[in-house]
Amino acid sequence: MSGLRCSVFLIACLISRAGSSADWKVYEKAGGLEVFSEFQPDLRKITGHFGAIYRELNGIIPSVSRPPQLQVILFRSTASYRSYLQTRIPQALQRRAVFYRNGSILQIYAVNSPELDRDLRHEFTHALLHDSLPYVPLWIDEGLAEYLEDVPANRGRSTRLAGMRWRCRTGREPKLTQVEGIRSAAAMTSAQYRDSWAWIHFLVHESPSRRAHFSAFLEEIAAGGAPGDFSEWSAADGQSLQPQIGPYFRRFHFASAGQ
Ligand SMILES: [Zn+2]
Repeated sequence: MSGLRCSVFLIACLISRAGSSADWKVYEKAGGLEVFSEFQPDLRKITGHFGAIYRELNGIIPSVSRPPQLQVILFRSTASYRSYLQTRIPQALQRRAVFYRNGSILQIYAVNSPELDRDLRHEFTHALLHDSLPYVPLWIDEGLAEYLEDVPANRGRSTRLAGMRWRCRTGREPKLTQVEGIRSAAAMTSAQYRDSWAWIHFLVHESPSRRAHFSAFLEEIAAGGAPGDFSEWSAADGQSLQPQIGPYFRRFHFASAGQ
């Protein structure tokens, strides 16, 4: 939804841990999940979201597993978030939340805001993907995170879905080869986030066979394969996807809540 909100940083640097638990107003540990927070978050709700994301993503990529260790670090304000991250992850300063991996430590940093649940769902999707797959094509990484950040009940009435239907009705279908060509998460535009989301929506929902085809591609990556670009891999399998995304969104019915 917003190129300013999120990105994935896998760069190794000196940052390691969230510091001592005594430095934070709230510290909770449940299994492999540690939460450090400057305010009292609704931990039950957060773990509920994480469980739901895991189950949904696992239905698309069976190899996805829960990360053995994840730290969630929450800030009461943007100023506090920026102050904490300015020397640690300066690339994240213009965003509201970020997923960060440093070796085996997975971390999500986020600011308290009305969008906190969406931000955590988005970043947790990145955490699952990067903990389970040896690499993740950028358009799939951001497309899945954008798709899963909405709770299922809200997806059928999103303005983004209405916008994509309109675009496809006016001949502006998102191009698969264009999203495959995205090379930099830091430089992604809102249009590239939108189009990556649209391709994921199509691949997950258009039909069970389409979803199975997409799952097979991701499972090949999970197994250590190098299937190359999805469009070429699909063409080799006899599937021409580009002509089908326009009709999919044009005929989309908004009554289909949960999509
Ligand atoms: Zn993201």
